[in-house]
Amino acid sequence: MPPAEVLRIEELTKVYGRKRALDGVSFTVREGDVFGFLGPNGAGKTTTIRIVLGLIRATSGRVFLFGKRRRGAALAALARLGAVVEIPRFYPYLSGRGNLEVLAMLSGVRSREAVDRVLAVVRLEEAADDPVRTYSQGMRQRLGIAQALLADPELVLLDEPTNGLDPHGVQEMREMIAELNRERGITFVISSHQLLEIEQICNRVAILRKGRLLVTGDVDRILSTETVIHRLVVDDVERAAAALGDRFPREEGPALRIRTSRDRVPEAVEALVRAGVRVREVVPERLTLEEYFLRVTEGSEVDLGR
Ligand code: ATP
Repeated sequence: MPPAEVLRIEELTKVYGRKRALDGVSFTVREGDVFGFLGPNGAGKTTTIRIVLGLIRATSGRVFLFGKRRRGAALAALARLGAVVEIPRFYPYLSGRGNLEVLAMLSGVRSREAVDRVLAVVRLEEAADDPVRTYSQGMRQRLGIAQALLADPELVLLDEPTNGLDPHGVQEMREMIAELNRERGITFVISSHQLLEIEQICNRVAILRKGRLLVTGDVDRILSTETVIHRLVVDDVERAAAALGDRFPREEGPALRIRTSRDRVPEAVEALVRAGVRVREVVPERLTLEEYFLRVTEGSEVDLGR
């Protein structure tokens, strides 16, 4: 059985005046995912997360949390969900612990151990009693995550968790998310426009641009050789290109590089052999998720090899 769905959004649209911030976006997050919600600035990531949390209303579309349609605030579902949206705000003169105690009280978390537990998880025990105004950006981000973990959620939404962090802070954030996912089974949705920073920890992604969904699915599948460019090493590039015609889109450049699914490679080779071209090698060029992201968000078409 496939893992349960923890979040599904269907045909989400949000219009601000004359601007479509979101335009018919649909995707599904499953239990155990570290789901990368990606797109350049202004793509609509924050808008989506705010709608999921019930902070703003969608113009149209549906949100399902834990298999149930979320209408209004849907507190029962929200209790199973933690989130950090934009820059987490804290009382600067209270300590990290003090802030968490206030937040725990406000959100009805009664267990006294909860605050200590989350401080340990985000490795802020030592600085727990220092005022938040003395915290670095990375420490504030971690305190934000601690707050999101207070109620022991099953799903955590993090909006740009690596914003403003130095490479070391980014690394720590990545490790923490991976660990919480692995050891506590928490499902994450992480929005980012800095793909490289979270690429290694996401198993699935949705990529947005200008309010539209460009692609969603398993990272491995998206990046599999099925979906990418194949470089053909042939003895006569001109003749080979003519033999392939329009059936296989060609990449710019002197070498013969075509975009195709793996399934259609034999068809390409056959066409070449029929035209008397000798094929020495077919080399799939696996993209990194970063390259893929730049490609789709910069607007060139991508053959997903479906
Ligand atoms: P970033 O990475 O910069 O946070 P994002 O992908 O989160 O970008 P959103 O903040 O969701 O993008 O914004 C999507 C679009 O909606 C942008 O063009 C933005 O200007 C617009 N927008 C967001 N909030 C409002 C609002 N309250 N009123 C009008 N337009 C808005």
